[in-house]
Amino acid sequence: MDEELAISVRGLRKAYGDNVAVAGVDLAVRRGEVFALLGPNGAGKTTTVEILEGYRQRDAGEVHVLGVDPAHPSPGWRARMGIVLQGTGEFDELTVAEVVRHFSAFYPHADDPAKVIERVGLADKAKARTHTLSGGQKRRLDVALGIVGRPELLFLDEPTTGFDPEARREFWELIRDLNAAGTTILLTTHYLDEAEALADRVGVIAAGRLVEVAPPSRLGNRQEAMATVSWRTPDGVAQSAASATPTALVTELAARHGGEVPGLTVTRPTLEDVYLRMIGHR
Ligand code: ATP
Repeated sequence: MDEELAISVRGLRKAYGDNVAVAGVDLAVRRGEVFALLGPNGAGKTTTVEILEGYRQRDAGEVHVLGVDPAHPSPGWRARMGIVLQGTGEFDELTVAEVVRHFSAFYPHADDPAKVIERVGLADKAKARTHTLSGGQKRRLDVALGIVGRPELLFLDEPTTGFDPEARREFWELIRDLNAAGTTILLTTHYLDEAEALADRVGVIAAGRLVEVAPPSRLGNRQEAMATVSWRTPDGVAQSAASATPTALVTELAARHGGEVPGLTVTRPTLEDVYLRMIGHR
């Protein structure tokens, strides 16, 4: 087993009856990495992550998380991980501060609850009962509970669903801070911009298979893809051409127009373009 890996998965399979949710996934997440699993509804992200967390049993494959097989957890293993599942955040009549303090008691090296509440942006809600929080605030509480144990490895399942744009940016900063402090992070998301902003590497999962793993900028060979050069002729007719050498084409157009080329744009496929192609607009 490679000590540099926080997560190592080979040949992971899981079916629910006839429905194959995970169809042979290989995955390696290095210590210190932010890895995003990106995929559409029903792709198998949650199933994969919950097997890694030890909450679901696999049918086949080898899995190690922090050096331990989640199907046979060792004492203390779970306390080394932080887990933010899809939506909980409500604890009846308890206040935010009470819930975070309560959860901190489960961990041997827990962080200061007040500091954690501040970090997730809930300081002014510390005394609020959790059922009075907004959707985005409940999600922040989930994150607080995920990080209060100072995890080596943090799992985040669709962490920013329900966040407003400002809250998402603040959350991204929090993830960057945690990662800079050495926390390995595996997150699932539907948001391409989130994967692009946070992840060192992205794994695109579709129909239970990992179709590609790459840094966001290299996904689908985006950088090497043909560029589309568009412009207008002097009489206003739109023109475009796909080119592997757009600089040469633009130079030639500039010469042809004797200077400024009307309506000139040069584009390459966006992350969304390559993602949609990968997940089945294949
Ligand atoms: P989403 O983005 O919607 O959360 P996902 O990528 O996390 O989706 P999963 O929740 O892992 O996908 O589901 C993968 C497949 O397994 C789906 O077809 C789903 O219906 C099925 N599935 C998931 N959990 C169960 C379960 N407990 N029992 C039966 N089928 C399940």
